[in-house]
Amino acid sequence: MPRRPRPVAAALLVSSALTLGCALQASAQTAPSVDPRIAELLAEVSPERMREYLEVLVGFEQRHTMSVLDGPGETGIVPAREYILETFRGFSPLLQAELDCYDIRPVQRIRQEIELCNVMAVLPGTSPRRIYVSGHYDTVARRPGEPGFDWDRWDNPSPGANDDGSGTVLTMELARVFAQSGIQFDATLVFIALAGEEEGLIGATLHAQNAAAHSVVIDAVFNHDIIGNSTGGNGIVDSRTVRVFSEDPMDSMSRQMARYIRRMAGPYVPGHVVKPIAREDRFGRGGDHTAFNRFGYTGVRFSEARENYSMQHTDNDVIEGVDFEYLARNARVSGAAVASLALAPPIPELSASWLGRGDGYDADIRWRPSPGATAYRVVWREAWGPDWEHEIYVDAAGLEPDRGARVGITLPDMSIDGYIYGVAAVGPGGHESFVRPYVRPPRVVRPVPERGGN
Ligand SMILES: [Zn+2]
Repeated sequence: MPRRPRPVAAALLVSSALTLGCALQASAQTAPSVDPRIAELLAEVSPERMREYLEVLVGFEQRHTMSVLDGPGETGIVPAREYILETFRGFSPLLQAELDCYDIRPVQRIRQEIELCNVMAVLPGTSPRRIYVSGHYDTVARRPGEPGFDWDRWDNPSPGANDDGSGTVLTMELARVFAQSGIQFDATLVFIALAGEEEGLIGATLHAQNAAAHSVVIDAVFNHDIIGNSTGGNGIVDSRTVRVFSEDPMDSMSRQMARYIRRMAGPYVPGHVVKPIAREDRFGRGGDHTAFNRFGYTGVRFSEARENYSMQHTDNDVIEGVDFEYLARNARVSGAAVASLALAPPIPELSASWLGRGDGYDADIRWRPSPGATAYRVVWREAWGPDWEHEIYVDAAGLEPDRGARVGITLPDMSIDGYIYGVAAVGPGGHESFVRPYVRPPRVVRPVPERGGN
């Protein structure tokens, strides 16, 4: 049984100043529970296997989205997608692998009508809520010696070992270890190799749009793009850090996700540094997580710490540029968070207006009970701080719903203005959800109405 801090009975918190002392003592942020089954799953992540998948992928010479026009053969995106599909199928009968295809009319970088296919493998959970793990398997390269791209031709050699073969084989390997783990996850896991990223996030956009149109619940999108190179173009080597990019604002759910990833990586991948970056992506660059963000879904991008720009989008993006041990550690960071979230209860529902002042000077914190939660982790931080600083575990059994079917606690003499608060749900195995924060949605700026002159 995973260990976790003893929940504090809610009743204790509401009354005295003495209790506040206890609560604060109990509240410096502690490490999350470690589930030995997750640790075992992560130990299965194999650098050798990822190398094998990647050798096959780069063997197709290019995986340009337009190369679908060449049809099946030895090279191009068609044999690549067939390979990914068959590999997914070979991992486990539990994985429901299929192509996710769209007819695309010519638009911008897409110069002719094509069929574009993502390759997805679904590992059904006990609940329909989904967690995505993704990378893009398409590639693009400039012609050697030419500065720009010629979107009318797709026969340039573009091995795309790191961009984004690395994210693709990471996705494939996580599909394997999750499907073979024997763990029954609560969330449904979707492992997806996306296409058309280089032409403008097309495969991800069409998939996310479709999911939103069908009200599909997606808790999180873990996107991996350019994630296997440990030697920067400037010679700086870093094989112990991975960057996690998340969209603004400071308390977006995508940023809660980034905080969660760092928290979960700590005990499961010790020594590996998760570096959260408080921006959507690198300057002037994009990735498929943004396509999901645009439809309101939570998602982040994982990228290596040190990039080599001279290899990207060239025929020099070769397998020698991928450090498979580093890639495996990055896969374990992502896998630790995916597995924890997939075993946790749903993220609590709440509204910013459910944070009140109690009798005038307290923090009265209310939320909707989360199905299956046995405890809640109430967190807070200075309103000028990047990550959660304090926490208190509250036993769900001690919580009485109010007339609005909400539960909660009161922290006496705690200012609701001086701190940001949030709540995560914790399941019987100690697995915790993302934190849902008490923040108002960003202001929508509207033009000031014109008034008549006087
Ligand atoms: Zn890429």
